[in-house]
Amino acid sequence: MSERVIPLVDQRVASLPARVPAEPVPATGLLGDALGRPLRDLRISVTDRCNFRCSYCMPKEVFDKDYPYLPHSALLTFEEITRLARLFLAHGVRKIRLTGGEPLLRKNIEILIGQLSALRTVDGEPPDLTLTTNGSLLARKAKALREAGLHRVTVSLDGLDDAVFRRMNDVDFPVAEVLRGIEAARNAGLGPIKVNMVVKRGTNEHEILPMARHFKGSGVVLRFIEYMDVGATNGWRMDEVLPSAEVVRLIDRELALVQLEPSAPGETAERWGYADGSGEIGVISSVTQAFCRDCNRARLSTEGKVYLCLFASQGHDLKALLRGGACDEDIASAIGAIWQRRDDRYSELRASLPPDASGGTRRVEMSYIGG
Ligand code: SAM
Ligand code: SF4
Ligand code: SF4
Repeated sequence: MSERVIPLVDQRVASLPARVPAEPVPATGLLGDALGRPLRDLRISVTDRCNFRCSYCMPKEVFDKDYPYLPHSALLTFEEITRLARLFLAHGVRKIRLTGGEPLLRKNIEILIGQLSALRTVDGEPPDLTLTTNGSLLARKAKALREAGLHRVTVSLDGLDDAVFRRMNDVDFPVAEVLRGIEAARNAGLGPIKVNMVVKRGTNEHEILPMARHFKGSGVVLRFIEYMDVGATNGWRMDEVLPSAEVVRLIDRELALVQLEPSAPGETAERWGYADGSGEIGVISSVTQAFCRDCNRARLSTEGKVYLCLFASQGHDLKALLRGGACDEDIASAIGAIWQRRDDRYSELRASLPPDASGGTRRVEMSYIGG
């Protein structure tokens, strides 16, 4: 087995200034990027901290007590996040997902949710407001989140076996508490609930069937995610990726599946229904089947940088504009110009790229911009 090299990184060094273009880009809701893709989905990271240390995301050796997390003054305030979200919505965004790090660690997150839920899309609708969480604080917070205006949650859960789960979160957190969080979310009306399971070959593939059996018929949509080469710290190797096609084959052998239509263009998950009508699962094949062609997602980091791709090495710094006193029109123009130039399609190109395709700069970490 080859030795893993896990470099120490600070992805926050590399960023580009967001410039106000000479030619304004008005927010018409009709923005397209260089490949004709619209802007529909905004993922906002509200903290770079987490109480878990999943090895595929925040390995302990790197994210230890000396890791330089962002100081509070560097984080966007709730007012700054809401202002940017309003400008993204004016450009056509319809869905906002709060993420992190662990978003429920951000103090008073309910206040931000209240502010975001009062915004409107270009069609005058409330944005589809959702949040991805490791579920550890959900039992305590689900009701308040719903009351603040959150619509749905996605809970990450990599197995049902307590020992496997404790090992994967690497902080000895019990699975029962996450299951309690999922129940609390259901009781609070935060549905339909999705559960995301990252599958790592050799680590938790034996949990696929128990997870499928557990959530079948429960109304929860279980989604299997291929282990991705995000960031630069998780020591990713292709031989640890279990292709989604194998996940589907494995489940189908015991619980017959039929393929379903995609729910919306740009949806990352391929949908499969149980043949007996007792619900559905999804597979997200970011490694084995690229879905860049319809990718309509922008990511806003905790400190106000926009990333155009999960595998980007540089963000565009909107905070400098915000704090430099720019007006709404100028910031909207800057966002528009950034999106118009976007030609990212990393997953489609992955196979043909050299091992470090970031040109010397390190790719951004998942815990910094969220999933
Ligand atoms: N802490 C929250 C959570 O775990 O749900 C939100 C942030 S986390 C970065 C968002 C999602 O990214 C989670 O579902 C997590 O499983 C997924 N993720 C993190 N690293 C990944 C990797 N290397 N490959 C695939 N998915 C990954
Ligand atoms: Fe934390 Fe989520 Fe990353 Fe796990 S996947 S370390 S819970 S941010
Ligand atoms: Fe979108 Fe980048 Fe993922 Fe392709 S690789 S689907 S462009 S985030």
